[in-house]
Amino acid sequence: MKKAEVMQQKRDVAQIFGGVCYVCGRKYGKGFNFHHKKYIEGEKTYRDFKNPLHYTLYVIAMVLVDPDRFVLLCRKHHISVEMLKRYKYETFWRLIQVVAMSR
Ligand SMILES: [Zn+2]
Repeated sequence: MKKAEVMQQKRDVAQIFGGVCYVCGRKYGKGFNFHHKKYIEGEKTYRDFKNPLHYTLYVIAMVLVDPDRFVLLCRKHHISVEMLKRYKYETFWRLIQVVAMSR
């Protein structure tokens, strides 16, 4: 399958989520990703694939099976989520509190 076809499939599947980033509402575009809310044991990750297009097809298939396990995010907010996930839960909440009290 050609890259353009895979990207079109990804764009089509993004419509399940309204075709917008869950965080900012930006319309689907370059760099958007289906973020896993949770992984299933034994499930492959990005690192298991040499060809990123094969990974994209793998994820598309999983999104179609169980969309509730995913959320559509733009590049910026996917990076933000992945960075925040690195913190311990307690640290994360304290960070959020400080941000909220700094308005
Ligand atoms: Zn966003």
